[in-house]
Amino acid sequence: MKVLVVNCGSSSLKYQVIDSESEEVLAKGLCERIGIDGRLVYQKTGAEKETTEAAMPTHKQAIQMVLDAIANPKTGCIGSLKEIGAVGHRVVHGGEKFADSVVLTDEVLKAVEDCNDLAPLHNPANLIGIRACKELMPDVPMVGVFDTAFHQTMPERAYIYGLPYEYYEKYKVRRYGFHGTSHSFVSKQVAKTEGRQDLKTIVCHLGNGASICAVNAGKSVDTSMGLTPLEGLIMGTRSGDIDPSIMEFIAKKENLDIAGVMNVLNKKSGVEGVSGVSSDFRDLEAAAESGNERALLAIEAFSYRVAKYIGAYTAAMNGVDVIAFTAGIGENTAIVRRQVLSYLGFLGITMDEAANAKRGEDYFTISTPDSKVKVVVVATNEELAICRETVALV
Ligand code: AMP
Repeated sequence: MKVLVVNCGSSSLKYQVIDSESEEVLAKGLCERIGIDGRLVYQKTGAEKETTEAAMPTHKQAIQMVLDAIANPKTGCIGSLKEIGAVGHRVVHGGEKFADSVVLTDEVLKAVEDCNDLAPLHNPANLIGIRACKELMPDVPMVGVFDTAFHQTMPERAYIYGLPYEYYEKYKVRRYGFHGTSHSFVSKQVAKTEGRQDLKTIVCHLGNGASICAVNAGKSVDTSMGLTPLEGLIMGTRSGDIDPSIMEFIAKKENLDIAGVMNVLNKKSGVEGVSGVSSDFRDLEAAAESGNERALLAIEAFSYRVAKYIGAYTAAMNGVDVIAFTAGIGENTAIVRRQVLSYLGFLGITMDEAANAKRGEDYFTISTPDSKVKVVVVATNEELAICRETVALV
């Protein structure tokens, strides 16, 4: 079956067409600046990237352009739209309602809408994309794959905040966690490759957004993001954990309201805020190498926080068998992996320097054979994970 995977944001939309039998990507691309002016990027596998500037005032028009591109008689990756057997949609927040992926019926869409409060920036945009696809492909089954679903196995002691319990009862304020599709995919790859289902694995998804997950025998038991993706690690531009009192302190000093403070915590903090250089680790590494001390400080603070969470999750699982690094930084930035592991000698971890310098493989080990904990680098693939979930359901 050919599956269209859609990740719809408020003004952009990423897509891939995947052959579910061979798991090959047939084409991929994105629509940018939806509702502003509009640009479609389309790339059939093995062919040149095509960029088309074209008005796309709504998501429906954007998706129509994607469908026209993938089924284009000359450059399309499929002969006709009839070949698309299902559409898999990334949905950010499923609240407590969705512990698994689900076929998107009208009733389900209403339940997803009820989670909008929990992710006001993301869920409404995801829903617009789903509804537009349903209108354009009314007979094709649609599946929603939630970023939060994998973490619904967390025990109550891990997801409850130290707040009045009534906020949980009334408003469902609790830890949900995100990047679930990636944590699930990577921990499954580890279990499959290592040939053991009972592993205690700590997955470090280190990208522009970053989170860590403790996976015990295939189930998420704790994760660093919370009610929203702001909690936990220091990220590209997000602060991660801070003393909540800083919010009031900064609001008074800088004369900001809540929205202003949230904007600082989400968009002006993280390694970009600390370094004053960039949110991108390639820029940070280059700056640190040429002597920029704050860039080096940002990398060190980032790595130190990752190491602290690994320590915490080792306690949460009473041990760890495998630590897996994934996503842009986890897969590519050797200096971060080296710094993180430098704190973990007490676990009996030893790193293979030459292996840590490797790149471009989907799965490789960077610990030495005698290391007490295996450390691996695993390429994440959220689109393929969404495709697999979609096929399993339809
Ligand atoms: P992600 O959000 O997973 O796309 O990760 C983005 C982050 O990965 C950025 O900070 C990049 O600097 C970092 N990164 C480092 N090396 C690479 C690379 N070779 N390719 C892509 N991202 C990289």
